[in-house]
Formats: sequence, C-alpha cells, structure tokens
Amino acid sequence: MHTLELRNLRKTFGSVEVIPGASLSVEPGEFCVFVGPSGCGKSTLLRMIAGLEPSDSGDILIGGARVNDLEPSKREIAMVFQSYALYPHLSVAGNMGLALKQAGKSKAEVTAAVNRAAEMLALGPLLERRPAELSGGQRQRVAIGRAIVRTPKLFLFDEPLSNLDAALRGQTRLELAKLHRELGATMVYVTHDQVEAMTLADRIVVLNAGRIEQVGAPMELYNRPANRFVAGFIGSPK
Ligand code: ADP
Ligand code: MG
Repeated sequence: MHTLELRNLRKTFGSVEVIPGASLSVEPGEFCVFVGPSGCGKSTLLRMIAGLEPSDSGDILIGGARVNDLEPSKREIAMVFQSYALYPHLSVAGNMGLALKQAGKSKAEVTAAVNRAAEMLALGPLLERRPAELSGGQRQRVAIGRAIVRTPKLFLFDEPLSNLDAALRGQTRLELAKLHRELGATMVYVTHDQVEAMTLADRIVVLNAGRIEQVGAPMELYNRPANRFVAGFIGSPK
C-alpha cells in the first residue's frame, strides 16, 4: 500500500490554476523531494496534503484512506515549516512534548519520546533552555524534534533549511538524512534547492508551474532528463 497517493489533485486560486491535476504515489520509507522554482506550487501541494488548504477536486490518500475531508490533526502527518514558530514561554522539552501532552499521553511517555528525539538531534543538553536562548539552527532542530516525537505515517517538510546559513544548512541536511535512516520514516520534502534535492531524495518530483514534469531517482533525472526544463533545473550539462 502507498503511504501517500494523490489522484488528479487540483487547485485554483481565483482564475489561476496553480495545480492543474497532480497524480503521484509515495512508498513506505521513501524520502520524496518536491523540487521546482519559487511559485511553482510546492507549498500549495504540501498544504493540501496536510489539510491546511482545501483542494478543488481529486483525492488524497494517506495509508490507503481518503483524507480530503479530515482536518489536519486527524491525518497522521507531522509538518515542519520554513519558519519555526516555537512557544517562547516553553522550554525546548516543553515545545517538543506539547503535541503528545495535548494528545493525552502520560508524563512518562512524553518524557521518553522527547528524550529519544533529543538524542537523535543532539538536543539533550538544551532541553531546559527557552527558544530565545538558542541559535537559529538549534531552533530549527527543535522544530524538527517537535515533529519526530510523534510517529505519524508521513512527515511533511516545507523548505525547513532555507532560513539557515550555508554551513548550518549543510550540517542540518546531513542530520535529516541520518534521521530518515534511523526512523525509517516516509518523508515528503519541499525545496527549491537542487543540491538539497539531489542529496536527500530517494525520488525527486520536478514541478514546473504546478505540473509534474518528471519523477525519478536523482541520478536518473540527472542522466536522463525527460525534457529541457528538467535538464536545466537539475543541472545536467547536456
Ligand atoms: P512555491 O511554494 O512553489 O513557491 P506556492 O505554492 O506558495 O509556490 O504558490 C504557488 C502559486 O500560487 C503562486 O503563484 C502563488 O502566488 C499562488 N498562491 C499561493 N497561495 C495563494 C493564496 N492563498 N491566494 C492566492 N494565490 C496563492
Ligand atoms: Mg513555498
């Protein structure tokens, strides 16, 4: 069974057809990267999967079940955004554990899950700090930690590294790859950065003006781009 399946998903804003009909499936454990230039509809697609934006027509299936009519909290997803809104009055541990606490987990369960995520992200020494006492990179790791304390069917990332400087972006990218291996999680990851796409993805989905131009493994796209757009975007020299 596919972890995620999109069937002819459409979205129009006013008279502008932003997603003219997207069909795609993502398999269990896959790291799937949506890549494309700014404004091509990556966030809109991700927000529809998350339930933050209604679709006009088509189907979204998560774990085989149609979720179009389910609110975000019922979709078994965890999402990490570009701007990580942490609660300033809560500690790192408090921020990471909040969703579990709200879901009615016991204090022991919350602590265990937070400690496990903190260990994976090297946040252990920072658990009692407040967000204001962290660097930008550390805050983004807390935002990622907040997502991985849960065990959703699907992780959604919308340009989570774009606010970080180049060095930190490289380092956090490696951490994300490691995290993916350790969790065995299914991820849909949006970026406009070709390097990020090439290094993180099992499969890349290239978007152009809301259309899926090609889907394939990084080297497949690099060596055999389906058209000039993909060739230009993935940077194959031919
Ligand atoms: P990306 O994430 O790839 O940069 P977006 O999904 O944010 O692209 O946007 C795709 C297109 O949809 C853009 O042209 C954008 O201006 C438009 N758009 C996004 N959100 C809205 C909205 N709420 N209302 C109107 N147009 C929107
Ligand atoms: Mg976007």
